[in-house]
Amino acid sequence: SLYFGDISPAPPDPVFNITTRYNNDKNSYKVNLGVGAYRDENGQPWVLPVVREIEEMMSQDHSLNHEYLPIEGLQSFRESATRLMLGNECRAIVEDRVRSIQCLSGTGSIRLGAAFLKRFHPDSAIYVAKPTWGNHRNIFKNEFFPESMIKEYPYFDSATRGLNLEGMINALKEAPERSIIVLHACAHNPTGVDPNREQWEAIADVIKERNLMPLFDSAYQGFASGDLNEDAWSVRYFVSLGMEMLIAQSFAKNFGLYNERAGNLIVVAKNSSDAAAVLSHLKALARPMWSNPPNHGARIVATALNNEDLRAHWFRNLQKMANRIRAMRELLLEKLRALGTPGTWTHIVNQIGMFSFTGLTVRQCEVMTSNHSIYLLPNGRINICGLNHDNIDHVAKAIDDVVR
Ligand code: PMP
Repeated sequence: SLYFGDISPAPPDPVFNITTRYNNDKNSYKVNLGVGAYRDENGQPWVLPVVREIEEMMSQDHSLNHEYLPIEGLQSFRESATRLMLGNECRAIVEDRVRSIQCLSGTGSIRLGAAFLKRFHPDSAIYVAKPTWGNHRNIFKNEFFPESMIKEYPYFDSATRGLNLEGMINALKEAPERSIIVLHACAHNPTGVDPNREQWEAIADVIKERNLMPLFDSAYQGFASGDLNEDAWSVRYFVSLGMEMLIAQSFAKNFGLYNERAGNLIVVAKNSSDAAAVLSHLKALARPMWSNPPNHGARIVATALNNEDLRAHWFRNLQKMANRIRAMRELLLEKLRALGTPGTWTHIVNQIGMFSFTGLTVRQCEVMTSNHSIYLLPNGRINICGLNHDNIDHVAKAIDDVVR
């Protein structure tokens, strides 16, 4: 064959592949803790009631149609999403030096940011956390940043199962000027470990002093603590220091709109003309990629954010998810304690967000799957949302079994 021969297949995506293996498992007691999506107490995907309510309103509204959105997306969505991230009091917004473009969820937002950086800062090194969400590196690799320029800063300290602040700061101190630092706004994936405020301040100091640029990945606002402002604190703090930055915002998790690809890439610039110029190039880059973004999810988010009652309804839905996750963390810890499982497990309740970085080894994870039909990432990351009252005993016993 002229075109399609001699191509060896690409490896399957490690995360999506876990779901495929789970689906093929015949055991009735199987548990999927690999997938990065919320599950309700019955193990089912949860359509947020506020989303159902808005979709019903939309189906009645015959003024809506399927026209193209502008390249930059739905204005009401971009504006309300940006305010949700930066806060209503944000000086950068008042000073008109913030712009945003609707993108294909968080991934597309980071990807468009990467495309912009490749065009205007092709010599910048990209720093990602060690470990980080697996797709970060891929995104930059696929924008043709050489692998040698995609570097890692230490993040997780496996001894304390907490933040390696010193290692992180030292790496940032040594990063060449104009390096891009990818940061998780909250609920770090996969570790569930976030810097506290004092630690964020120390991180921001080095980034500012060394003229590095933050690229915030915000995929879990409100989902981590149940409080939208709390979860945006890190980003708002950096903005308050007057830094230039990019922020990739996803509504997959906090609205449960995974497949609607509602995302927003925010640019905070030094002044209004810089911000406008950057947006013009982001549009120029988006046009030959996806041309214009999808409407449905963005309209749902904008409708919720722009109506007081719906917004309050959304908060209640968010809190329900955040609370269920916290309750499952506590219950898992309690079960492990009751079993007398060797080791300390308090990190399960101290970690934040959807995931827990259990500390299970690759080998232990394999046994979790082969002997107990529990599916998780080989790095020991489990999705706490996959736990419920029906399966938590099985999971706790399996953990107990594999660590003994
Ligand atoms: N960043 C992080 C850290 C994530 O965990 C995710 C979701 N797995 C995303 C970004 C983006 O997801 P999406 O493209 O579905 O918004």
